[in-house]
Amino acid sequence: MSSKQLGTLLIVSGPSGCGKTTLCRRAEKDGLTGYSISCTTRAPRPGEVNGVDYFFLTQEEFDSRVATGDFLEHACVHGNHYGTLKSEVLRLLSAGKNVVMDIDVQGAASIRACQDPEIRRAYADVYIHVPSEELEHRLRGRGTDAEEVILLRLHNAAIEDARRDEYQYILSSAEREADYARFKALLTSLGMRTQLKR
Ligand code: 5GP
Repeated sequence: MSSKQLGTLLIVSGPSGCGKTTLCRRAEKDGLTGYSISCTTRAPRPGEVNGVDYFFLTQEEFDSRVATGDFLEHACVHGNHYGTLKSEVLRLLSAGKNVVMDIDVQGAASIRACQDPEIRRAYADVYIHVPSEELEHRLRGRGTDAEEVILLRLHNAAIEDARRDEYQYILSSAEREADYARFKALLTSLGMRTQLKR
């Protein structure tokens, strides 16, 4: 008798600067997960590549994909639209691959409410928490964003933090390597859930 393994869908949220993108990208680089590339209407930052970092869409293109029901979830974050393609996620999960999704608290809430049986079986979520002083230090140290963007992100961080108890797991961010070790351990444990066998 053969059984097919469904991948884990791990939603990773936390404020800008918490290191969630680094964790997700590193897990992907180490072959532990696939990465679902999101669509966004924001302009690419220097060095970002269409189809690698995001699918960069115009507002009209984005609206038309919403209308055709292509998104598992979509949300407006910092004044731009972001969305996760259902096709990307299901393709990876059914191939037995883990999918990590770096999305905000609104996106996480809508995926949690998703009724698709494969998504529900595969689902897990983790919130990356960073104390506010440390977060400000990291955002300023990054040197990529204007002052008003940093202030907006700190304001949004407080709002997101208030919802961290909605998550199944909380990773309290410390040192980069320790964070990654715990992130990997979480993925390993989640892959052992009986519900993923079929
Ligand atoms: P950034 O513009 O810095 O890449 O991302 C800004 C915010 O948008 C981050 O909090 C990130 O997690 C969130 N984000 C990225 N992709 C998606 C997505 O597909 N859906 C939602 N809801 N949020 C996303």
